Amino acid sequence: MAENLPPTPLSAGLLADLTLARAAADRSEAHRTDAAWLAQRLQQPDSQVIGVGQGQFPLADDAPDWRSIADWNRNEDDEFLFLGLANGVAHFAARTVKEEQRTWGAGQWSDLRASGQRLSDTDAGLLVSAVALDNWHTHHLFCPRCGAGTQPSQGGWQRLCSQCAAESYPRTDPAVIMLVVDDDDRALLGRRVDWQPEWFSTLAGFVEAGEAAEAAVRREVQEESGVTVGEVSYLGSQPWPFPWSLMLGYHARALDPTIAVDGVEIVDARWFSRAELGAACANGTIAVPPAVSIARKLIERWYGSPIPGEWEMRR
Ligand SMILES: [Zn+2]
Repeated sequence: MAENLPPTPLSAGLLADLTLARAAADRSEAHRTDAAWLAQRLQQPDSQVIGVGQGQFPLADDAPDWRSIADWNRNEDDEFLFLGLANGVAHFAARTVKEEQRTWGAGQWSDLRASGQRLSDTDAGLLVSAVALDNWHTHHLFCPRCGAGTQPSQGGWQRLCSQCAAESYPRTDPAVIMLVVDDDDRALLGRRVDWQPEWFSTLAGFVEAGEAAEAAVRREVQEESGVTVGEVSYLGSQPWPFPWSLMLGYHARALDPTIAVDGVEIVDARWFSRAELGAACANGTIAVPPAVSIARKLIERWYGSPIPGEWEMRR
């Protein structure tokens, strides 16, 4: 624990170990528009496939249950998403919206929040794309221009309107998430209205239309906590496909540390010294987000070492 460390320099480097930002597969986007190549790979037995639906995918022995595409029990309305090449092998996700198809694999399905930390770099990249694409398809069945139905194309990386031929592409909504420090190098953490009493995290919010990310950092901190922010430094990003966000991580310095929570989104916000946060996490009175989140990485970067414990849902 690092109470005697000097204040965190704003230029201490980018976040290097973001769990869901790992990607070792070749996205191979040129093949998305090659229908003959995709059709051939959907028949080639060494191609790999995994089910995806409702943010989940099947596990076997605690690892993603990739299978030969020859073993996939095909239905006429299967939708295959081309995720890319890993070691030259095409990898697909099959959208399994039907409950009976969820018996695929060992029957145990998991999501990125629960399993993301244990995935290999290759699997992380492939499955984050699979979940993000599946979420997008689920919620974009109709043309934003004319309202007619749309159909997937380009290996799942496009939807085409059946009426006006408008093209739609997978959405990514930018959101900012920031660790704010004051002149005493304390960190500002807040609790959302719908969180359990001990849960605290960095503040975060969506970038609005026509707004720069740095401006969103200052606006969100002011709105949610009343704290005025000056200097803002970008630290890194990771996809957060719940359903289709991209989290942009920042370190920020407070100009005025006076807290006045909005009481709507954030019902409590506090300045924590390292000693206070470390002690509170150790005795369980405060819990911080899981390691899969950029929030956790921002907090630990400031803290200087791993922090004990993480959020646990109480049933
Ligand atoms: Zn249309």
